Amino acid sequence: MANKRDYYEVLGVSRDASDAEIKKAYRKLSKKYHPDINQEPEAAEKFKEVAEAYEVLSDSQKRAAYDQYGHASTDPNFGQGFGGGFGGFSGGAGFGFDDIFDTFFGGASGQSRRPNAPRKGNDLQYRLNLTFEEAIFGKETTIKYNRNEECRTCHGSGAKEGTEPVTCHKCHGTGVIQVERNSPFGRVMTQATCDVCGGTGKEIKEKCTTCHGSGIETVSHTVKVTVPAGVEEGNQIRLAGQGESGANGGPYGDLYVVFIVESSKEFKREGSEIYYNLPITFSQAALGDEIQVPTVHGKVKLKIPAGTQTGTTFRLKGKGAPNVRTGHIGDQQVTVKVVTPSKLNDKQRELFKELAQEMGSNVKEQEGGFFDKMRDIFNHD
Ligand SMILES: [Zn+2]
Ligand SMILES: [Zn+2]
Repeated sequence: MANKRDYYEVLGVSRDASDAEIKKAYRKLSKKYHPDINQEPEAAEKFKEVAEAYEVLSDSQKRAAYDQYGHASTDPNFGQGFGGGFGGFSGGAGFGFDDIFDTFFGGASGQSRRPNAPRKGNDLQYRLNLTFEEAIFGKETTIKYNRNEECRTCHGSGAKEGTEPVTCHKCHGTGVIQVERNSPFGRVMTQATCDVCGGTGKEIKEKCTTCHGSGIETVSHTVKVTVPAGVEEGNQIRLAGQGESGANGGPYGDLYVVFIVESSKEFKREGSEIYYNLPITFSQAALGDEIQVPTVHGKVKLKIPAGTQTGTTFRLKGKGAPNVRTGHIGDQQVTVKVVTPSKLNDKQRELFKELAQEMGSNVKEQEGGFFDKMRDIFNHD
């Protein structure tokens, strides 16, 4: 894992390579290193490396995750995992040797439809709601959802307790039958999947009473989720084996937990930077002040220097959100907004007038004129 090569490097393509370029590079390299063709000792290893790189880069969601999280995105053990296949919720995310074979021979190897072959279960998706702060600091939680599991009564066979599936009487266990068909050239015999057993070669005489022969039951399933600090809306993690049960002894699918992050009334976040608008008064802007500013890490003192213009941005170092990959904590940017008072009492009005005169402006008695003048003094944009 530590010295794993970059997938783009493995395929010899640039980071902005198109899908077609990736596919072309994969075809070329997988042929070059195919163990049946290439006898070099490291060919098998290279072949695997190429297949793995292709599995990720050929899937737009996995590729996006890889671009964002690097190899951590494909490691199922990483803190319960920055999951590999980000996406592909249709199941069968596994990319075994059979799949590569199918790619090579166009899936026409006669063996490509094997109803008894172990198949990985379907992947599932769970949308986990987080508050603005939870996304920043991460959290541990437990989620509960329904998933299909192997029936516990029949252990997936579909046969009634105490019985076993028997060899199909129609196809004698081969899973295929001969059918006669009329064609323009006369009657021909063709092979078809057995309609009694669906190609499995096995027949269930007495169905399991729990699952009614399907071998599957829907079960409420609970799993612990560790939300990494710094996740953002749409990020997801993969929990390997927490999806649905596989068929014919195949492994469970995976669970993708997608994070939905609530927005904040006070803060705006972009990546690891947090933005905050701070309203201040005329006098604070003109004379300077020390202000307690809220951050997600608690209140922080901010010194406003005398003569601060509206729109000025101050940076509170390390008061942002952590980068989910590096853990580096960003800053909070505080943008000052000088607020024009909308109501003045008599004393305040006198003081403003005095101030305006002192600053050389002749203040007219209309409201609009007065405030426009004040705005001119304090706003320079
Ligand atoms: Zn059952
Ligand atoms: Zn049959």
